Amino acid sequence: MRKRIIAGNWKMNKTVAEAKELAQAIVQGFTRTDSCEVVLCPPFTALAALREVIAETPVKLGAQNMFWEEQGAFTGEISAAMLKSAGCTYVILGHSERRQYFQESDETVNKKILRAFEHGLIPIVCVGETLAERQNGLTHQVVEKQVRGCLADLTSDQVAALVIAYEPVWAIGTGVVATTEQAQEVHAMIRALAGKMYSTRVAESLRLQYGGSMKPDNAAQLLSQDDIDGGLIGGASLDVKSFLQIVYA
Ligand code: PEP
Repeated sequence: MRKRIIAGNWKMNKTVAEAKELAQAIVQGFTRTDSCEVVLCPPFTALAALREVIAETPVKLGAQNMFWEEQGAFTGEISAAMLKSAGCTYVILGHSERRQYFQESDETVNKKILRAFEHGLIPIVCVGETLAERQNGLTHQVVEKQVRGCLADLTSDQVAALVIAYEPVWAIGTGVVATTEQAQEVHAMIRALAGKMYSTRVAESLRLQYGGSMKPDNAAQLLSQDDIDGGLIGGASLDVKSFLQIVYA
């Protein structure tokens, strides 16, 4: 049985004090913990503060990115070991904003995933097509290429432990959400692909999140789909009430 997972991607929002305040409110409101894992992914600067806020609670900590090298002269970068030592359980990798603004590719995301696993971090790997790609009927082709590229050289056990977030680029931060049919169809395709590439066991263990304008009013329907195991939430994760409503959906 796959445990549901709702993660808040706070992006480049919240000072340390603001982040603490938001996390405290979420922790206080998250009381029914058995069926859903909750992960908060603040900016790097707030990781240490949030580690204290979530200590002794079921809420987990995640980062929004990392570099694939172990250490050294890479000004401005953060390593997997640093994230682990800062209390992270998860790390978001390959978000479409990283791909769009920072030239990340499936190859670089793959290097990061391999390094994250070496340090005991669980990657949340983002894939998804642009609007033009969907309109040209390329969704499956694009997502399959991303999945195959990002997962290169991973072991079956690693893929079974992974989280993949299907985030159609046209739905991120736009208020335009994928229909439940569109979302379920791509999630099912990713799960079937994992079955083909690895095994039924891997496909059944792999957790798949939907991301892209998930809000309290559309979350329950999306999360009721067979292959959607959770959500990666951007905008709505910055509001306590909205985020908790999604968690309880
Ligand atoms: C995201 O950035 O991962 C995301 C899904 O954003 P939003 O919920 O704002 O669309």
